[in-house]
Amino acid sequence: MHFRRIAEHLAPFYSPPVRPENLQQIGEELAIKWDDGGESFIPLEKMRRACPCAGCAGEKDIMGNVYRGSEKPLSPASFRLVRLAHVGGYALQPVWGDGHSTGLFSFDYLRKIAEPT
Ligand SMILES: [Zn+2]
Repeated sequence: MHFRRIAEHLAPFYSPPVRPENLQQIGEELAIKWDDGGESFIPLEKMRRACPCAGCAGEKDIMGNVYRGSEKPLSPASFRLVRLAHVGGYALQPVWGDGHSTGLFSFDYLRKIAEPT
């Protein structure tokens, strides 16, 4: 991997995005250990409610009107994490207990929603 060697060589001048080093579900929270040493704890319910997919977050038209997909009521299963897939080295794609799986949570976004509100 010649490219990777170059990237490492340039490391002092380039700060790569922070990535999760370790992911673990602890009770009702997702615990993320980041490779910069930081840790985030995200309640699964909060994470699901922050789902950034078009169906949950809605899509804005140029007038700023928000269109949401068919609103399905969330149930306890909606906040159960079935699986987490890594996508393209920049995001996580959770599969929820109610079958919803179209939300892509970028690592940046995860760090943001992990902050106390
Ligand atoms: Zn969604």
